[in-house]
Amino acid sequence: MPRVLLVAATTGYQTRAFANAARGLGFDLVLATDRCHVLEDPWGDRAIPVRFEDPFASREVLAAHGPFDAVVAVADRPTLVAALTAEALGIPHNSPAAVSCCRDKYLARQRFQAAGLIVPKFFRVPVSDTPGEAARRAKFPCVLKPLGLSASRGVIRANDAREFADAFERIHAILDSSDVLVLREEHNRFIQVESFIQGREFALEGLITGGRLQVLAIFDKPDPLDGPFFEETIYVTPSRERAEKQEMLIRAAGRAVAALGLTHGPVHIEIRLNSAGAWVLEVAARPIGGLCARALQFDRGMPLEELILRHAVGEDVSTAKLSDPASGVMMIPIPKGGIYEGADGVEQASAVSCVEEVVITAKEGQKILPLPEGASYLGFIFARGDSANQVEGALRAAHGALQFKIATALPVMRP
Ligand code: ADP
Repeated sequence: MPRVLLVAATTGYQTRAFANAARGLGFDLVLATDRCHVLEDPWGDRAIPVRFEDPFASREVLAAHGPFDAVVAVADRPTLVAALTAEALGIPHNSPAAVSCCRDKYLARQRFQAAGLIVPKFFRVPVSDTPGEAARRAKFPCVLKPLGLSASRGVIRANDAREFADAFERIHAILDSSDVLVLREEHNRFIQVESFIQGREFALEGLITGGRLQVLAIFDKPDPLDGPFFEETIYVTPSRERAEKQEMLIRAAGRAVAALGLTHGPVHIEIRLNSAGAWVLEVAARPIGGLCARALQFDRGMPLEELILRHAVGEDVSTAKLSDPASGVMMIPIPKGGIYEGADGVEQASAVSCVEEVVITAKEGQKILPLPEGASYLGFIFARGDSANQVEGALRAAHGALQFKIATALPVMRP
């Protein structure tokens, strides 16, 4: 029975999806997470406790639990511990250096530039600097972003020096918040400035084997992403771009993977396309996040997690094909901050033709925060159909049927 180590940040949906897939395959899945390990096995899943802020000690802990046939990381932060452990145990995996570049937007841009990919003008500034000098160096419009956060958290467009200063201070506050400081990541003490890349955006889901990228799906992101914040909403596959444009995306993605030195495992890649070419925004050495993977099924309904596990243990999955003619997901954005009180219209939204599932993940009474400070969604809508247009239409119609109740959060009164 293959023994697979899954290194995960939380015990969320995706971890459970991997656990289910492993059970179905008859694999022994060993989970490692960095949650509180003062309590003995608080979640009852026998997860090995590790500390992502101490990757080398975590590697020792995990290597001692070996042997494993494969190591898989869920989410960005666990990729380093996963890579270090795989390296220590001699398991095919991305190198620690390659995944570290993926987790730092400045290092990634440097690698892309050195490899001759097209990159925007970019530089990074310590958060302790005042924004004035950096604004003088910027080419407007530009985008300011943290180096190591995800889900567009803290990514802000600025059109002039005043907007630049506001964005800088806003990101500074995010980087100084306790949930970021606790990560103790050196790169979270910088802000990256990049010139704004006009164009349409796509996401590629792939698997790398021996350094070769196999593209599993190209998603169109049909909503304009022009800022000031960059809210992901709709992903639809297959892409409706012309074949030669899709080839450009695939070529750029392959070059970016090579530039970073990624060699093995799942990747999620964001790319913009305009008349100058395909601009790789980011390569993450992990699968598409959270529940979104449900939008992808292969070979008569195999979930992405199962495909990843099969690939991880060395199975040949190079012929894997998407099961549906078209599918998609809408990440339901948080329209305003406050206290989430519930949703109406879920039944109507679920009844829209081609809609497979409406999942509301916000919990009643939960404080919700929109971008750029927040990094979550109210829920997800999934649709499958005969064409990408049909799927996109279904996602929009279902979203239109939903109404969310969000109460204004009362400010905390201090005596
Ligand atoms: P994250 O890892 O938080 O998703 P990204 O660097 O991928 O951060 O940026 C999030 C989104 O912000 C991108 O998907 C894109 O829409 C937008 N974005 C980021 N950088 C640029 C840029 N230089 N030009 C235009 N849009 C950008």
